Amino acid sequence: MLVPQKPVGSLLGVLPVRDDLRALEGYHSPQVDVRVRLNTNESPFPPPVEWRDALAAELSRVEWHRYPDRTADGLREAIAAWHGVSPEMVFAANGSNEVLQTILLTYAGAGRTVATFEPTYQMHAQIARVVGSTVVEGDRNDDFTLDPAEAERVVTASRPSVTFLTSPNNPTGLVEPADRVEQLLDLDAGLVVADEAYAQFADWSALTLVDDDRPLVVTRTFSKTWSMAGVRLGYAIGPTWFVRELEKVVLPYHLDTAKQIAGRLALRYVDDMNDRVRQIVSERERLSEALAAMPIDVTPSGANFILFRPQTIAGRELWQRLLDHSVLVRDCSGWPRLADCLRVTIGTVDENDAFLDALREILV
Ligand code: PMP
Repeated sequence: MLVPQKPVGSLLGVLPVRDDLRALEGYHSPQVDVRVRLNTNESPFPPPVEWRDALAAELSRVEWHRYPDRTADGLREAIAAWHGVSPEMVFAANGSNEVLQTILLTYAGAGRTVATFEPTYQMHAQIARVVGSTVVEGDRNDDFTLDPAEAERVVTASRPSVTFLTSPNNPTGLVEPADRVEQLLDLDAGLVVADEAYAQFADWSALTLVDDDRPLVVTRTFSKTWSMAGVRLGYAIGPTWFVRELEKVVLPYHLDTAKQIAGRLALRYVDDMNDRVRQIVSERERLSEALAAMPIDVTPSGANFILFRPQTIAGRELWQRLLDHSVLVRDCSGWPRLADCLRVTIGTVDENDAFLDALREILV
């Protein structure tokens, strides 16, 4: 029997959300249909055909009526072997966003404080608020570097349970120096989370500092360098005591069988991944130089994107005019501390040329 539907738009039955969530805005990144899509920091290249074929072959042999390997042993062993750590130091989840959420559920939550240094990846503060934590935002300098005195001020004033450092930072692209991570550890900044979603594009990683004696965790993703944004797979490398606690908090069987296979097989193609990274880094340098030759301020990037600010036109207007040329970049111009800034993801040579041609037409 059909149950009568409530009229669309009726307020009957609409429940108020938690008081502390009322002001929450959610994550905005418009998915517009365009010719050149350079707005979400995905890889412009698909993964290798050999990977796709190996995945299809293994998927055809899966016993789909069985739950997945709950501790994802094969995947964790492969990730651990690649990084030269023990599998007990690896925690994997559905995208690094779920890794971050599980970290915050475990070490932050209601009554605890989470520190970020803005501008940075929006989801750190967003997830922290969703799990009920107080967010304390430190400020970066005008050139987006983080002043050690500001790091110290924030940590000593708020005694956070979790402190985030994103390196390379999103949306600025800047790589944090090693001594900033060491400073936070010395300051007792709670669990220090180095979000390294873009690490392979940079020349430094905090991974070398991770061991059982320090409250330091590095998070990574398969969404960027591995060309697997559609898979939703990320992981953390941290102390063994940290991984054990996260495993108690995350939902049982959260990582499905297909994803575990996809990630394990991807690690057979490290050389292909490094090739893609080399191409993107070389295109990033070409794009940075071309942007700097126009009336544009360019932030130095160690990632697969570039933050830039036009000098002669409002950022929002430039974003719209690029869209008129069917080129979509990320509009950061309305975000706090990022007036007039736009962020472009490095694409293929053709996509990057289309972006530069459109820019020249608009600006020069
Ligand atoms: N961290 C940073 C800094 C990011 O930019 C992103 C993706 N935009 C993520 C984490 C999340 O990546 P995913 O959930 O796709 O692994």
